[in-house]
Amino acid sequence: MKRIFLSLAVAAAVLVGCQDNEKNVELAQEQIIDMSDFYVHTDADQSRGVSESCHSMRVLNRQLKENPELYKKMYDVEYATRKFIAAKGKPGNGGGNNGGGSEPTPDNLGVINIPVYVHVVYSNSNENISDAQIASQISVLNEDFRKQNSDVSNAPAEFAPLAADSEITFSLAGTFRYASSTTSWGTNDAVKATYPPVTPETHLNVWVCNIGGGILGYAQFPGGNLATDGVVCAPQFFGKTGYVQAPFNKGRTMTHEVGHYLNLRHIWGDGRCKQDDFVADTPSSDGPNYGCPTYPTVNCRTNDMTMNYMDYVDDACMYMFSEGQKSRMRAIFQSGGARASMIN
Ligand SMILES: [Zn+2]
Repeated sequence: MKRIFLSLAVAAAVLVGCQDNEKNVELAQEQIIDMSDFYVHTDADQSRGVSESCHSMRVLNRQLKENPELYKKMYDVEYATRKFIAAKGKPGNGGGNNGGGSEPTPDNLGVINIPVYVHVVYSNSNENISDAQIASQISVLNEDFRKQNSDVSNAPAEFAPLAADSEITFSLAGTFRYASSTTSWGTNDAVKATYPPVTPETHLNVWVCNIGGGILGYAQFPGGNLATDGVVCAPQFFGKTGYVQAPFNKGRTMTHEVGHYLNLRHIWGDGRCKQDDFVADTPSSDGPNYGCPTYPTVNCRTNDMTMNYMDYVDDACMYMFSEGQKSRMRAIFQSGGARASMIN
């Protein structure tokens, strides 16, 4: 989804010139941060009978209500992200050998590796998933975030050029197993309070436990409380071998949730056409897609990028992040960014 005035604001800043436009970029970006975009717009959801398999936005809304300071932090993260992306798109800004041409400025971080701690919290033997199931999930994350997944070749011509290698990898740093009598943990972060994250400044913490309510998973966005930082995923939707359940049995729930953890929004912006996902190259839509949509699926007068990991389609029918999403994810690792502490 995109807002046309976002593109226009950036373009206007770019046209000012190479030397003295930093201030203009900042002003343009500041003007377009609308904090109402940080809330789920339930009127659209209810009218469409939307069911929510991912509760990341609901959890964010709860955290914003509970903690007024988070509001400012989220604003600052958003501001820094948009400033980075706007500067990245400026012609002739760095890059060394493009002669001042229009090549976007790459960041200099190269491939970013994220070490992962997995907390398996189980109330029965099925939920005590195997090491092989955990390994399969790490493999899926590495394939999807490096565009090494074979199904990306299914992308239609309209979207194939936008499919991105995010240059982010994942390595399993450790697995913790906890037997518990709790059979359903919900989304109030009780599992994190009971089994706290380990060094969340430098590691992605993942809790694999039954959530209940038909919820596959939820993530915390960058900028939130470190004590609750990470991703929660139900065991039957984690990995692609062992105790897994179709049609979410290819590890893409975690690809989606880690997308949130790295600051991506749902591709329809959690509202109607005008609601934004803060990414310029993803088309507007007014709600999630489900199942395995045929192409083209038209909403808001454009073809939906239904195959994007940040939609709600079946695992077998999502297979790409866009270049705009890549820039947004990588922005939080830049110097001063919300997850810069993970770079060492
Ligand atoms: Zn989600």
